Amino acid sequence: MTLNFELSDEQKMLEDTVWRWASTWLEPQMEKLYEEDRMPPDIFRELGKIGVNGVAYEEKYGGAGLGYVETLLLYETIARVSNALSMTVGASQTLCFDNFRRNATEAQKMEILPKACSGEYIGCLGITEPNAGSDAMGMTTRAVKSGDHYVINGSKTFITNGPVADLMVFYAKTDPMRGAHGISAFYFLTEDMKGFYREKIHKWGMKSSPTGLLTFDNMEIPEENLIGGLNQGVSVLTNGLCTERITLSGCSLGSQRACLELSIKYAKERVQFGKPLGSFQFIQGKLADMYTGYMASKWMAYSAASYCDSLETKIGGKGTELDRKAAAALLFCGEMGTKIADAAVQIHGGYGYCSEYPVSRHYLDQKLWDVGAGTAEIRRIIIARELLRDNFQSGR
Ligand SMILES: Cc1cc2nc3c(=O)[nH]c(=O)nc-3n(C[C@H](O)[C@H](O)[C@H](O)COP(=O)(O)OP(=O)(O)OC[C@H]3O[C@@H](n4cnc5c(N)ncnc54)[C@H](O)[C@@H]3O)c2cc1C
Repeated sequence: MTLNFELSDEQKMLEDTVWRWASTWLEPQMEKLYEEDRMPPDIFRELGKIGVNGVAYEEKYGGAGLGYVETLLLYETIARVSNALSMTVGASQTLCFDNFRRNATEAQKMEILPKACSGEYIGCLGITEPNAGSDAMGMTTRAVKSGDHYVINGSKTFITNGPVADLMVFYAKTDPMRGAHGISAFYFLTEDMKGFYREKIHKWGMKSSPTGLLTFDNMEIPEENLIGGLNQGVSVLTNGLCTERITLSGCSLGSQRACLELSIKYAKERVQFGKPLGSFQFIQGKLADMYTGYMASKWMAYSAASYCDSLETKIGGKGTELDRKAAAALLFCGEMGTKIADAAVQIHGGYGYCSEYPVSRHYLDQKLWDVGAGTAEIRRIIIARELLRDNFQSGR
């Protein structure tokens, strides 16, 4: 008996299509986009043309009707060219619109999701606040019911796609006395929204992926824009974080693969002491470690995605195996990604320190995966909590 670790023909076709697009459309622009910290405005329309803006969404909404394994594969493939823009695609497709898909009404989904799939709408998700990061349940953004609408006050920070998003899903306290059980999820269309302000945050990595500080000042949204049930925001949030951690592992994975491929090529081409770098054992050791790290990361991420796809409900959060697997996948990919990118720069020597060489971007971008989607420390806390709860009975 064998365990099948191979992609299916359909998955290979998805990978080939996305890679053709990423290497011909995105790659030639990437150095300039990064330098100018600019997202290509038509990127989602472009992805809409190749049908990958809603990989896990049902076909009736314009999606591809596939799953989280294929979503992970999409993000991995884009990240071979740009970790940052893969994150931007993931923030829209998984964090925002997939969360919306799993919690909105059928009528809301029919109205919104086709536009997400075509690339007309870009999405963002707001959990983090200036004073509530790891302690997300300590959020203070308030939603107060007034007649047939909610009045929102507060702010969200570090929001990927915040400066450009057409639709935002966010969390606010609807019953602060109930703590974590007084949080609800909402969405709104940003165009011409009164009382909604956005500011771009300047970062040293993940450039070209826009990040924003978003402020709500007596912003009014209709009561129907509450999704997932009143005071049910915690389960929406924790479920969403599981699929987010699993699929966004692909950003680190693709970047790891690019670092390895670029380093192998460079080690063969660059000659010092009359020999290619690849003939030196120090360099060979680095390549071997990079390969081993990438393959291990890949197994962590794809096995978690496959496990998620095997669950009928795909319910994650506290007390589930999915929570542990999702946290472990991103923990491992993130930490391995920073090591692999560091080795890639080292193999490239001084050239690796120059923006003309893509390994420099991968190096800057990879660090985010120790921080974003819940930090490495928080992921360790989740993994340990779940291990101590169920004594690792599944053995997987
Ligand atoms: C580029 C970028 C994109 C992002 N995109 C989004 C997005 O789209 N939407 C969104 O909502 N958020 C987003 N984030 C926010 C991200 O999820 C948070 O930065 C992260 O959760 C950490 O929160 P914090 O920055 O407030 O750090 P803090 O919570 O202040 O943590 C600081 C340090 O203390 C450690 N720490 C905190 N509590 C504990 C503890 N109990 N035990 C041990 N160590 C602890 C942390 O691990 C970290 O090392 C993004 C961040 C960045 C940088």
